[in-house]
Amino acid sequence: MNIANLYKNKTTVYSMEVFPPKKTGAVETVYNTLYGLRGLPIDYISVTYGAGGTDSQKDKTVEIASLIKKEYGIEPLSHLTCVGSTVEEIDTTLKHLKDAGVQNILALRGDMPAEGELKMAFPHASDLAAHIRDYDSYFNVAGACYPEGHVDAESLDADIENLKKKVDAGVTHLTTQLFFDNDIFFRFMDKLDKAGINVPVAAGIMPIVKKTQIERTVAMCGASIPSKFSRLIGKYGDSPEALYSAGLSYTIDQITDLVAGGVRGIHLYTMNNVDVATKVTEATESLFKSVNKI
Ligand code: FAD
Repeated sequence: MNIANLYKNKTTVYSMEVFPPKKTGAVETVYNTLYGLRGLPIDYISVTYGAGGTDSQKDKTVEIASLIKKEYGIEPLSHLTCVGSTVEEIDTTLKHLKDAGVQNILALRGDMPAEGELKMAFPHASDLAAHIRDYDSYFNVAGACYPEGHVDAESLDADIENLKKKVDAGVTHLTTQLFFDNDIFFRFMDKLDKAGINVPVAAGIMPIVKKTQIERTVAMCGASIPSKFSRLIGKYGDSPEALYSAGLSYTIDQITDLVAGGVRGIHLYTMNNVDVATKVTEATESLFKSVNKI
């Protein structure tokens, strides 16, 4: 199924992200995650590709996306990056995706690898998006966006100008980098509107339920921490059980407010954590039923 149609038919789409673990021997964990998620009302599941600047497990992405479709009957969105690959390698992956019946691709530039030779089929995600569209109209292409601006961009406005190129290249929906402050997201949506970007935007939400996630996540993506969130970390950061519960509540509140504010999609960064994904889904399912009039 073309995910663009999901966005056409639903007021608010609910999706999740899983990732193939970096360690070769740990790949079963993502299979266990998918098994644990079965039966939840998820519109589609995305699978990362070499996230964190590592080449390892890239070949697992197509396999996992195919499993999501064939075994669980859920639509997969397969991430694909242009950093670390040649055009020929990208075309081989596109062939494998089509052979596996995976129609939806999130076209990304990718994280720059920490070390090693840098192959780069295209300089920007917009070039990859255009390439996929030209390669085969079978594919539906999505893209990423950054409510606080991408770290490499001169400014948020400059980043939005570049985002327009991605949408003009045929991207049918966007998913945001994670954020903790909904006002930043709503201001970003106003800016997109003024820039003439009107494809659906899914808000990327990451539940923070462990102290180790805080420094790592913020250092990686540079998301602003609102005072409500830092109070919670300050108070409960040293109590794993309390932080787990407070982190879940914060995520559920964030989603409740975003859905009330008319967001077109919620994309949950599950970190392969079935318990968290299940609890968030159970607590918010009625919101999606209400806005989608199910
Ligand atoms: P781009 O859209 O190419 O943007 C990168 C920079 O280039 C920005 O500063 C932008 O303003 C600028 N730019 C873009 N187009 C142009 C242009 N035409 N001319 C001039 N400048 C331009 N990484 C992984 O490795 N694997 C994953 O699976 C993965 N999944 C992700 C999923 C989501 C939802 C998000 C938000 C990020 C994900 N990432 C992943 C991280 C992402 O690859 C990095 O953030 C990367 O640095 C940028 O990727 P992009 O596709 O947004 O790049």
